[in-house]
Amino acid sequence: MRMVLLGAPGSGKGTQAIRLARSLYIVHISTGDIFRQAIQDNTDLGRKAKEFMNQGHLVPDDIVLNIIQERLSKQDCEPGFIFDGFPRTLPQAEGLDSLLDKCVTPLHLVICLEVPSQKIIERLSARRVCQKCKQDFNLKSNPPPADLVHPGCGGRIVQRDDDLPETIKKRLEVYQRQTEPLKQYYRNKKLLVEVDGFGTVDEVFVRITNVLDSR
Ligand code: AMP
Repeated sequence: MRMVLLGAPGSGKGTQAIRLARSLYIVHISTGDIFRQAIQDNTDLGRKAKEFMNQGHLVPDDIVLNIIQERLSKQDCEPGFIFDGFPRTLPQAEGLDSLLDKCVTPLHLVICLEVPSQKIIERLSARRVCQKCKQDFNLKSNPPPADLVHPGCGGRIVQRDDDLPETIKKRLEVYQRQTEPLKQYYRNKKLLVEVDGFGTVDEVFVRITNVLDSR
């Protein structure tokens, strides 16, 4: 299975992508995670990406596509993959098509998680994440321990720099302007299925697996 999970920041696509990858035995590829890791490791890529990310802007397409090309060449992608947070622009989607054409491995499915903007703003403002294992928490629905240390791995639980209110607003604008047009792109290719992303993690997961079962 080779699929893309589209959706606004805070639509829950990261959480769902991790679960889907586990249940389908495919790799989860999150460009956001790749950049955050590079920032933590203070690599060249990290230093470049950080400037864009902290302002809520997208990292330039050529940088993103180079990373994806390298990632797709690894053997663990052979059984399949789920992209989370990629592609985010039309040139990235076209770039992905040509990479997959070369490997004769087309996409099977693109799922877009639909969540109302107000809900997204609430979710992102309340999101906290473990710096070490990346597990998400939510101040309301899944609060972290009071000492903000993750009992599972000992990592510190923090707010992402790009989850601050002004950056959230910017990221949503960027999503609407640059990423939403991808829905039409994939609709034209008959790959798009829109799924209601409003509900519990379990409810949304069932909706997605129902789509997978029906294909
Ligand atoms: P995410 O964790 O997917 O919300 O990504 C966090 C940030 O990383 C985004 O706001 C962008 O600045 C950057 N980023 C992640 N994926 C991409 C991508 N495919 N294209 C451009 N920028 C990206």
